[in-house]
Amino acid sequence: MQLQDTLNRPLRDLRISVTDRCNFRCVYCMPKTVFGRDYPFLERKDLLSFEEITRLARSFVANGVEKIRLTGGEPLLRRDIERLVAMLAEIPGLDLTLTTNGALLPQKAQALRDAGLKRVTVSLDAADDATFQAMNDVDFPVAKVLEGIEAAAAAGLAPVKVNMVVKKGVNDASILPMARLFHGSGHILRFIEYMDVGATNGWRLDDVVPAAEIVRRITAELPLEPADANYRGETARRWRYTDGGGEIGVIASVTQAFCSDCTRARISAEGKLFTCLFATQGTDLRALLRGGATDGELDAAVAGVWRARTDRYSDIRSEGTARLPKVEMSYIGG
Ligand code: SAM
Ligand code: SF4
Ligand code: SF4
Repeated sequence: MQLQDTLNRPLRDLRISVTDRCNFRCVYCMPKTVFGRDYPFLERKDLLSFEEITRLARSFVANGVEKIRLTGGEPLLRRDIERLVAMLAEIPGLDLTLTTNGALLPQKAQALRDAGLKRVTVSLDAADDATFQAMNDVDFPVAKVLEGIEAAAAAGLAPVKVNMVVKKGVNDASILPMARLFHGSGHILRFIEYMDVGATNGWRLDDVVPAAEIVRRITAELPLEPADANYRGETARRWRYTDGGGEIGVIASVTQAFCSDCTRARISAEGKLFTCLFATQGTDLRALLRGGATDGELDAAVAGVWRARTDRYSDIRSEGTARLPKVEMSYIGG
């Protein structure tokens, strides 16, 4: 029987964070003022091993998961990530993907593909270096990320999705340049409303450019029409260029919440299970793994957490809820 939570949502997707560290300091995710030299990142011994991650993945698949996305922090910073990909790729019927800032993709795309990765999503918040730097707070050129995107496509990790978080007054002038850059490229650009994840990015509702406004701005120059969702629970609403130049997505997690269709669980790099991006507490699966739990006990623990799930944060978000203590995006895995 299919596993369902209290709102009848099945467990389908799993995001696994493989590290809480990153080589970027995006202002909306890991602001430099907080994530500085002294920030207490997880220690190596605290991270789940590849064997532990694979065991958990098998348990989630036994409970209905069809798709796993590796994330972080920056997942390509985890040493030998290709070995983990190869271990997960052995699980039958699993759609295996990864989200990255792209910095290390030129070197790693082919090895990831060879290990069995199916696709990648690459984050890129602007088409010009000055705006990109204002968003990620490190001196990293756009051209190098584009090189990573092309390397991924050439390796067969296609179609490549490109995530752009839009923050009003910082990079919203890049909406059109980014649309132009990827129009007709075969890659799928997705605009993400800036979210109040974590407690460090100082989010305000005023910083959000609503998805409807993003679509309006693009369609004024490059006409769009709505396209059908690929599957239930797809976070991005799809729009297609009427001239055949491909499609874009908009992820309206703030202005058009999609909690009623949320089928996603997340595991932090130290093995805590979260059933919402905005959760304050997770369930310690590492303790079960290291405490000698059998496969049956592990499966039952995962099922129990999902059955009890009541999360619908985005449905009830307000300026007030934005100030609640929440785990950071870099920790829980975006
Ligand atoms: N480091 C990788 C990357 O940037 O692609 C993977 C982890 S990152 C946390 C995953 C995704 O979350 C990225 O696409 C990022 O842009 C998005 N993200 C992070 N903080 C966000 C926020 N406050 N609002 C919306 N999206 C956010
Ligand atoms: Fe790093 Fe990704 Fe967060 Fe940017 S969004 S700071 S690249 S983890
Ligand atoms: Fe899912 Fe929580 Fe986001 Fe709602 S707020 S869509 S329950 S992760």
